[in-house]
Amino acid sequence: MKRLLAHGDILVWENDAFTCLKNGYLGIDGDRIDYLGADKPRAAYDEVKDMTGKLLLPGLINGHTHTGMSLLRGLGSDLPLDKWLFDTVFPVEDRLTDEDLRIGMELSMLEMIASGTTSFTDMYMAPGYTARAVLASGMKANLCRPMQSFDPDEAPMTCARMREMLALYDEWNGAGDGRIKTDFSIHAEYTCTEKMVRAAAEEAQKRGAGMHIHLSETEGEQRACVEKYGLTPAQWFDSLGAFAGRAYAAHGVWLTPEDRALLRDRGVTVVHCPESNLKLGSGVADVPAMVSEGLSVALGTDGAASNNNLNLMEEMHLASILHKGVRRDPTLLSPSRVLQMATVNGARLQGRTDTGALCVGNKADIVAVDMDRPHLTPNIDPLSNLVYSAQGADVCLTMADGRILYENGAFLTLDRDRILFEARKAAQRLLG
Ligand SMILES: [Zn+2]
Repeated sequence: MKRLLAHGDILVWENDAFTCLKNGYLGIDGDRIDYLGADKPRAAYDEVKDMTGKLLLPGLINGHTHTGMSLLRGLGSDLPLDKWLFDTVFPVEDRLTDEDLRIGMELSMLEMIASGTTSFTDMYMAPGYTARAVLASGMKANLCRPMQSFDPDEAPMTCARMREMLALYDEWNGAGDGRIKTDFSIHAEYTCTEKMVRAAAEEAQKRGAGMHIHLSETEGEQRACVEKYGLTPAQWFDSLGAFAGRAYAAHGVWLTPEDRALLRDRGVTVVHCPESNLKLGSGVADVPAMVSEGLSVALGTDGAASNNNLNLMEEMHLASILHKGVRRDPTLLSPSRVLQMATVNGARLQGRTDTGALCVGNKADIVAVDMDRPHLTPNIDPLSNLVYSAQGADVCLTMADGRILYENGAFLTLDRDRILFEARKAAQRLLG
């Protein structure tokens, strides 16, 4: 199947910035982009879609989330992170069945697809079980089973979570023509022992898999780690080999300048999650410093229990204005830089070299935003309009690997009504 998207404005990534090609053509052959240009292609296409008034951009990549947590949306609001996590979230999570996790993940995928996300990086329970839901949805995901271990005598290779991580990799890495990738994960410094971190890092290294962690989210975490080990969380993870391969760290709110230099030198991507950090009162990560110092920064929503949605368009808007206000400098984090975080840098984090930008040869992971809206008129600067004015609900087309997942409000791969019904029922049983 060859499909041509005609007359849309196209955001093209070149020379370290996005620029807008007005009234362009984007050709798709199967799962890949085979043409991009201002002139009509000579080749014939089976279908031509008129994209007049639409802005085409790369599918957004959510760099850090916990999709199964959507059933816990709104739970424990207005509590600090330690009370929210240990007293509210963990007890409910203990009662989640595999079916609950699948329903939560499907609910999350509905929301992400409808707001322009084509790929996400998940950290949650039973990822092997929920991987089937990812395949059915048509989305892409980097999945992992986070390690937690509080017993210093626990042997890594007999630990159930380690065995789950290894089984996940063996069964699912590369599934769905590469749509699913599996990474390794340590939940956080404060929920894991040195022995386990070292072992997980070694196993990830052996397989060339990524390492997904929470890092320096709160001031208390940073302080307690220094008191316990004489090292910051970044230094502690590094000393245990966690950053030896592709690694990415959510939050980074309390990183020191030395931590930032360490992460940059190790090539670790920091996943900025501004909305979750604000809601939990964790603080504001110094993203302008990270960017100017050469760190790779991606964008994530975190889970729906601390955000409380998975709308990356909203996250882009917040990331773009938050730092201008905090630093009293409107020149910081341009729309191009923020879109880069949600696309190009997200692809790098996921270890994917064929997505994150619209160009010939890349996978056809494409989003269209309908700019024919009052709040997007006049559309003088489409990139600025996208980041500062557009809403997630302005997305009118979401495509991954050339397959349309969502178009004009209709979900083509997931059963919206069945998922919402099951989600309400599961939440009632869990939280009722
Ligand atoms: Zn998280």
